[in-house]
Amino acid sequence: MNTPEEIALAVVLFTEVWGELAVSLPDDYSCHMTCTEAEALADVFRAGGQDRTAEMILANHAAHDEPDDLHFQGEE
Ligand SMILES: [Zn+2]
Repeated sequence: MNTPEEIALAVVLFTEVWGELAVSLPDDYSCHMTCTEAEALADVFRAGGQDRTAEMILANHAAHDEPDDLHFQGEE
């Protein structure tokens, strides 16, 4: 197991490098994430101090949710 410092550094580097791609996955790559996957991905970005990116990940994911899904924001 890596040290907490190594894990923290990896999270920060990951969120810096993957921010743009992680946000655009649903729209640009037709990558369907489950609600649990989207929340887990957003949590990594929050842990890396990228709250705005986490919000954008969930917003783009929510646009593809169905009425019974956790993040659905449209009209039923
Ligand atoms: Zn969802």
